[in-house]
Amino acid sequence: MGKSRRWTGAAALALLLAAAAAALAAPAAEWTYPLSAALLENRNGNLTLVNREEALDADFTPKNLVPLQLPSVSGPHELRREAAAELAALFDAAAKDGFELFVKSSYRSYQTQNTMYQNRLERYGRDDGVVARPGTSDHQTGLGVDVLNREWSLKDGMTPAFGDTAEARWMEANCARFGFIIRYLSEKQQVTGIIYEPWHLRYVGRDVAAYVMENRLSMEEFVPEYRAAIAAYEAAGGDFAELVRTLNAPPPVVEIAPEDGEGDTEVSIGS
Ligand SMILES: [Zn+2]
Repeated sequence: MGKSRRWTGAAALALLLAAAAAALAAPAAEWTYPLSAALLENRNGNLTLVNREEALDADFTPKNLVPLQLPSVSGPHELRREAAAELAALFDAAAKDGFELFVKSSYRSYQTQNTMYQNRLERYGRDDGVVARPGTSDHQTGLGVDVLNREWSLKDGMTPAFGDTAEARWMEANCARFGFIIRYLSEKQQVTGIIYEPWHLRYVGRDVAAYVMENRLSMEEFVPEYRAAIAAYEAAGGDFAELVRTLNAPPPVVEIAPEDGEGDTEVSIGS
């Protein structure tokens, strides 16, 4: 008996060693990207990239559009609910710092963009790049919004010179706190193919906005970057969808065992 027990122990040890070796040979994939995987699923569409290469369908309409109750010109205006609430908070914070902001343009449907594009074509006889082709405007996401100060809201057009105003500087410094990024940064014109638009805020959510603005990224850089992180994780044997499910799982319910014995719940303070 003693001998066979020893052999059982040796076999168990061998199995353990084999398992350890297997674990070493195929280390579990590790999520090392600076943002949590749970933020990058894009189930709500907050990270959707729209540009000349990645167009939205003509029938794409964002979910949960709500009217904006904010100072504005050329309204009425709409954004997706979450972005609208955060924009209102941004306007409040700006007001507390002494800055008056106005919404100039917000959600635009494919059809509205098409009308603007056709009007521009007719007026100038060619596509001069100023008005985005229908399907390629960030405004169709319901997450893009143009915000100006009083002086600029009364002007006919918008130019990068708005970036020199105190309001634009405030927005660039503070937008991420409310989940917005400056979608078209001055130093990213070559990457985005769009001029510096200090007025165009794009909602992506607070955590992502903080990361994107801290690292001065365009969406054209950020989106491929996080997609590559997901691809690398899966190439290393990880299951991204499973990782997100785990992160989003509600915390386990902790059952408190009933106290046994008597008098446990009575606390007497000794004199
Ligand atoms: Zn815009």
